[in-house]
Amino acid sequence: MKKIQILQINDVHGYIKEHDEYFFTKDGIEYKKAGGYSRIKTVIENAQKEGPVLALDGGDTFHGTKPVVKSKGEILIPILNHLELDGMSGHWDFAYGPKHLKHLVSKLNYPFLSCNVYNKDDDSLTFDAYKIIEKGDLSILVIGLSATIIDKTMPDNFSEGIYLTDGLDEVNALSEKYRDEVDLIVVNSHMGYPQDVHLASNTKGVDVWLSAHTHNRLYEPTYINDTVLIQSGSNGSFIGKLEITLDEDVKYISHELIVLDEKIEESASMLAVIDTLDLDEDLSVVGKTELPLARKEVLNSDLDALLLEAICKASKTNIAFSNGWRYGPVILKGEISKDDIINMIPMNPDIMKVTLTGQEIKDMLEENIERTFSSDPMSQMGGYLKRVFGLKIYFKIENSKGRRIQEIYTQDAPLIYDQSYQVSYITQQGVSKKYGQDHTNTKIKAQDALLAYLKKEVFKKESNTWMAI
Ligand SMILES: [Zn+2]
Repeated sequence: MKKIQILQINDVHGYIKEHDEYFFTKDGIEYKKAGGYSRIKTVIENAQKEGPVLALDGGDTFHGTKPVVKSKGEILIPILNHLELDGMSGHWDFAYGPKHLKHLVSKLNYPFLSCNVYNKDDDSLTFDAYKIIEKGDLSILVIGLSATIIDKTMPDNFSEGIYLTDGLDEVNALSEKYRDEVDLIVVNSHMGYPQDVHLASNTKGVDVWLSAHTHNRLYEPTYINDTVLIQSGSNGSFIGKLEITLDEDVKYISHELIVLDEKIEESASMLAVIDTLDLDEDLSVVGKTELPLARKEVLNSDLDALLLEAICKASKTNIAFSNGWRYGPVILKGEISKDDIINMIPMNPDIMKVTLTGQEIKDMLEENIERTFSSDPMSQMGGYLKRVFGLKIYFKIENSKGRRIQEIYTQDAPLIYDQSYQVSYITQQGVSKKYGQDHTNTKIKAQDALLAYLKKEVFKKESNTWMAI
């Protein structure tokens, strides 16, 4: 009988140290400290003492917080190399361009695996598609999948010189080729839960499907035919553990989603590694909030309501749009630090203005609802709903594509479809170039808008822009 533990981290989003985290409880949202690579290290180390361990990172690793974005991921290299991981795949990891990702990967002591990322010039693979890894007396095929949205909805520089597929044919071909040669086939994916379930349902021979991207906290695994699928939260606050015993056939024994809270000791050796790094922390107080702020729900986010209200004030508009980002800080009620502001929007984009007709606003929002809730998982483009300030949108999730919005109101009247509105936005994901007239750069940085807003006001407005009816 052969045994292995598979450990999964995913969507750590640059959270190097312990931080505030939200948890869902019977009484609503609770906040407590969790996470940190020092706790991830402890769990990996303890598992290694018990026997062979395969530890994989699902990606969204090299981006998210101030020190990580500022160093374009470099600051993480000693931390990641100390973890003793076996492979990763990704999404936001492409944020500084595929060339830079290759540079980062060249410094790692484990491979970046993706069977669905290709070079445009000759259709060759950009990264290794897979690796056969020996652990104890087991031979394991690990196939990587990166987020297919990288060249579809992300900023253009993410996919410079590359293109992505959904990976279905690639996974099936690799699984068929190696099925008889290996003991176990593992897919390390960053497609997101709905797409991963779809792909796992349409592939053969995969034993374990590690899903990432959508920040699902799966306390129980999902079973799809002979495949067991897990996803393990986000922000480094969780680690997924599967214990597998192999007899004649693959046999799954147990799964645990480990919460990395104060019950998990911090590894001294990892703390020592982190201690050598310049995290450039700035915890000076720059403002106050009467509400806890986080990106944790698909419809509305108070954290983004603060961001967009500040953008409206700075750009003198009444309506603003930004992407439905899922990563970002948890800010407790009370003081807001300088680093909180930077972590809210680490790319610090310029605020843009554009003139949109009411019809364009409606079309853009309908497209966004479809990309979020499409009944075809492969048409979902990840993320939460677009964040909106200054509108109230009543919509029916269950309706078909393009027919979901029932009513839209501005702050003082119904939205008029043939009227023009000047709005502000940040990044192409807020308003894409195909909508509107006169896209202009205000040259005001998003972080400066936030700092200016908080100098004058205490944030207290709950966001209820999107109303699912
Ligand atoms: Zn992602």
